[in-house]
Amino acid sequence: MTRDNRRRTFPLPAESSTSGGGNVTRSFLKKPRCVKMNDFPLKTVEVVCLGTSVALSGLFYFLYRKKRKTVNRLKEAPRLSLDKSLASILNATPGKCLQYVIIQGRVQPVGEPLRSQFQEGSIGVVQKLVLREHKLVWNSLARTWTDSERILHQRVNTVPFNLVGSDEAAVRVLCPLEASGLDMEIVHEKFHQASYGFTDIIGQYLSGEKPKGQLEMEEMVKVGATLTGVGELFLDTDCTLKLRPPADGSEFFLTPVDFETMQAAQAGQAWMWRALGLACLLAGVAVLLWAARRHYRHLQARREQERLRREFDDLGEGDELPDNACVICMSRARSCVLLDCGHVCCCFQCSQVLLQPICPICRQHINRVVPLYQA
Ligand SMILES: [Zn+2]
Ligand SMILES: [Zn+2]
Repeated sequence: MTRDNRRRTFPLPAESSTSGGGNVTRSFLKKPRCVKMNDFPLKTVEVVCLGTSVALSGLFYFLYRKKRKTVNRLKEAPRLSLDKSLASILNATPGKCLQYVIIQGRVQPVGEPLRSQFQEGSIGVVQKLVLREHKLVWNSLARTWTDSERILHQRVNTVPFNLVGSDEAAVRVLCPLEASGLDMEIVHEKFHQASYGFTDIIGQYLSGEKPKGQLEMEEMVKVGATLTGVGELFLDTDCTLKLRPPADGSEFFLTPVDFETMQAAQAGQAWMWRALGLACLLAGVAVLLWAARRHYRHLQARREQERLRREFDDLGEGDELPDNACVICMSRARSCVLLDCGHVCCCFQCSQVLLQPICPICRQHINRVVPLYQA
């Protein structure tokens, strides 16, 4: 049978509506829908949540691995005491270089130290001056004033310095600003309160910004402070010992706390990244489970509908037609009641594919279709 022949056998709804009789109701029929059964439906918001959780857990896992590596490197690193024997150890080492070692010593400047701008008599080797502005900004979304701060000015000064051991053996520290954990001592901190008059207040309400003041701060690594350094130790050509960031990319540390505290802090950070990674992974799994549950329910509803359809099929089978034939298909027995009008005019299959839920006889809205059991 060709395609044209088939078309002639089943008249188009536009033609049939004018020809009258039983064919008029064909225009109520829906076009057959394409239903993909295999695809696993995920809503856009679920895809976004899943993507975010996978990306975040990947990022946290990466950070965890990095931190874990640092913790392991710290565990393996030898602790050397800073004394005269250190130079001979380095001399005996091939390349005159130890890749990752831990040393501790007192800070001593090589030349002139830095002088504090605010505290008389304070001298150091690293100095950080920060001027930070604090203000309240109107948040129109939350309808409250929220704190906001901005660095207006920042300057870091350094001078060359050594870590000195018990018998005045010294190790020069290179690139101290590249080191992690360099918490400096605050030598000066002052908050300058902003003062304003009545017109300023009106201006603030109009602009949505209220200045609170400026915080002036000076931090220093003071001369004489004890620092723990972890990095690459090498004996330079001028016979001085130097500590620098490791060439293999391991983390360089310079910290005022002792080695055990630092190691514990690093292990804690590794643990935190792992916990965050796991939490994100679990969130992703939860999203997947949620989608799977929804999909399962959807399939269950379809199965139930299919079962109902089969039940109606069974009801219609074997009946002698056409004295109670369905007004739509004219082939099966009428097998359902349309509510609320109560008309018994069509089979269940036809009632399910109506374009609009409207009774084909009286055009009243169909709220419910119930099976008709004839005894
Ligand atoms: Zn029918
Ligand atoms: Zn009706």
